[in-house]
Amino acid sequence: MKKSFGLATRCVHGASAATRSGAVNTPIYASTTFAFASNAELLDVVEGRREGDLYTRYGTNPSIRTLEAKLASLEGAESSLAFTSGMAAEAAAFLAHGRQGILCIGDAYGGTLQLLTDQLPELGFITHFLLADELERLEDVLRQGVGLVFFETPTNPTLTVFDVRGIAAITHRYNARVMVDNTFATPVNQQPLALGADLVVHSATKFLGGHSDITSGVLLGPKDLLAPATVWRSNLGQTPAPEIAHLLMRSLSTLVVRIERQNANALAIANVMSKHPRVRRVLYPGLEKFPGYRLARAQMNGFGGMLTLDLDDAAADSAHMIDKLRLFAIAPSLGSVESLATLPYTTSHHGLSPEDRIRRGISETMVRLSIGIEEAADLIADLQQALE
Ligand code: PLP
Repeated sequence: MKKSFGLATRCVHGASAATRSGAVNTPIYASTTFAFASNAELLDVVEGRREGDLYTRYGTNPSIRTLEAKLASLEGAESSLAFTSGMAAEAAAFLAHGRQGILCIGDAYGGTLQLLTDQLPELGFITHFLLADELERLEDVLRQGVGLVFFETPTNPTLTVFDVRGIAAITHRYNARVMVDNTFATPVNQQPLALGADLVVHSATKFLGGHSDITSGVLLGPKDLLAPATVWRSNLGQTPAPEIAHLLMRSLSTLVVRIERQNANALAIANVMSKHPRVRRVLYPGLEKFPGYRLARAQMNGFGGMLTLDLDDAAADSAHMIDKLRLFAIAPSLGSVESLATLPYTTSHHGLSPEDRIRRGISETMVRLSIGIEEAADLIADLQQALE
């Protein structure tokens, strides 16, 4: 679809595998294989002379290919690959591009850290880590030989904002690639490829899916960089089912309206909570006094639906506070239409030692909130009664 159309239009009309019946939605192509009129036609698809549908595990199924076309259009990518989960997408990208070493900057989702700390090194991959306050060592690490630099921005749960343009410019001088996890921001709030990243990855389980009902992932970038990941996806069996592709496609139609609402709700909550006597700090890139505010303004179109409250209390009080919430569910995911609350030390960062959590600025008094699309006033009232 034409790039000149706005993002909300591309969310609805970005791609379709229409049928002769006139269905306005792309049907679910519940077929594992596709038939050809002749062997020569089949060979054209197998040998890449013509794009076509062939075998669902390869991703060559209209439900999956239509979803991928829409996702690529939203992120301004040449191409995209849908996966069974965000971890599947990350794993395929690391396997495809991490042979010369992987550098992870800042905090990352627990599963990603485990993959990079334990599992990939077991296979011989060399992995490096730099926290936000160690970024001055970026070139030292790149000099040691790194093929892929990976980071989330904003990060979980401290909402640290990293300079995509700046990190990409330095990384490219060392012929390495940059992959950004855009899960927290979504293409509505941030377009890392336009800022200089080479690859973008998402847990589509979160804001892209948006309804806590599908597990999925996506990798986006130029065709030549996605080609090696396609082979890993096929042979590790990481391709999503057509039914999941269909649900994600439907979710994307409402992405802009959901995210705009989540942005507005989160900003309203952040403003009120930053004045609450029991809240020591509100970590949210949309607050002017937040350290990442200026950078977020420069590289983001909206500040997102995630925020963290650091309570002026003992750890037991933060647990007591979330237990008292009525609208927010205590659940370890994010990005959905319903609001969720967790204590990062009990969920996403449970696997880290207390010392490591302190090093990463994650305290036991932090409450991470994923803001949904409910009325902001109701969410604020719920937080206020829980803080009483
Ligand atoms: N990236 C981020 C930022 C996440 O928060 C998560 C999961 O919480 C993942 C990746 C992994 O995604 P999934 O659970 O879809 O495998």
